Amino acid sequence: MNLSEKIKSVEQSITLALNAKAIELEKKGEDIIKLTAGEPDFNTPKPIVEAAYEALKAGKTKYTASSGIIELRDKIAKYISKRTNNNYNSDNVVVTNGGKQALFNVLMAITNPGDEILVLDPSWVSYEAQIIMTGGTPVHIPLDFENGFQPDKKKIKRYITPKTKAILINSPNNPTGMVYSKDALQDIADIAKEHEIFVISDEVYELLVYEGTHYSISSFEGMKERTIIINAFSKTWAMTGWRIGYVVGPNEIISQVGKIQSHSTSNVNTPTQYAALKAFDVDVYPMFQEFKKRRDYVAKRLEKMNLKFILPNGAFYFFISVDEFGYSDKEFSEKLLSEVGLAVVPGSGFYKKGFIRISFATSQENLENALDRLEKFVMNFR
Ligand code: PLP
Repeated sequence: MNLSEKIKSVEQSITLALNAKAIELEKKGEDIIKLTAGEPDFNTPKPIVEAAYEALKAGKTKYTASSGIIELRDKIAKYISKRTNNNYNSDNVVVTNGGKQALFNVLMAITNPGDEILVLDPSWVSYEAQIIMTGGTPVHIPLDFENGFQPDKKKIKRYITPKTKAILINSPNNPTGMVYSKDALQDIADIAKEHEIFVISDEVYELLVYEGTHYSISSFEGMKERTIIINAFSKTWAMTGWRIGYVVGPNEIISQVGKIQSHSTSNVNTPTQYAALKAFDVDVYPMFQEFKKRRDYVAKRLEKMNLKFILPNGAFYFFISVDEFGYSDKEFSEKLLSEVGLAVVPGSGFYKKGFIRISFATSQENLENALDRLEKFVMNFR
């Protein structure tokens, strides 16, 4: 059919294919454990749910300003100002339908046809697709396992051309769980200033840091003007299904982002905005502690299996090398599923072959079971 060539060129997610297979096996009555989830297994904290309910009861069910209610934009501006030592106000904020729409709107706002957007691999599945859909050209820069998947200045510089418009960074990272070091961020900041490019900083896991510190690149000298922060309530407050995130950045870009949103989706649904307003008062430390406990447990088990991985210091994923087993990451994942009923995501889905990603955003019982299965599978090769 004569449909959009641009959209046709976007690949279907490998994650979806494997998930579909897992669901098919489950339907046949097989006992499958999924470590594929990119979302907390916790329920949204009660005060947040109640705030949405109260908003509904109070008749807050009409359109709001398409960029979001002023109270929420104010709160986000204050929060990000504090985190970055910058001075943002509500005009620097657009509330979006999750981190995903935040990123889409930003790419739409900055991209002219053929502009190149740098992406550091392994990279989150939707970056490439969104860059293509918004008319840009994704340029993949492979990072090295040996270097802890930290951004590498020399490497990044090699990929800069006159067409480079922005670099898209993600720390804490999905899928590696790495938190970029201060030095690596300083290198990126230096490159961005030297070549006058934007930095799109996806910080949706910013509060899930187990060791070290998360720095927002917008807090680095001279970076506020060229950084666009993507964030969301999804991961930190267990609100994935509510669909709420936000963009914070320079006025000139934010007004374009607001325009895109006003002509496409309008505001995020109204009760959800009031729920998010409440989120800032909710202590997420207990969830964080539980994630940390699970991370330490998984690390111990993987070490016992002699698997190669870098201990994630953020987010809720392990990215594990499976190169030694003589199968591609896709084959390895398929075998894991068919032979021991364990679903994981192959690294190829994140533009990095030879790895699998497992999520520890699942119950301790599930994790124990899943790791028993992985161990059983791996032991066949030992
Ligand atoms: N960015 C990264 C790195 C993610 O892992 C995700 C979700 O998986 C998102 C953005 C999108 O978040 P949301 O669910 O708020 O759209």
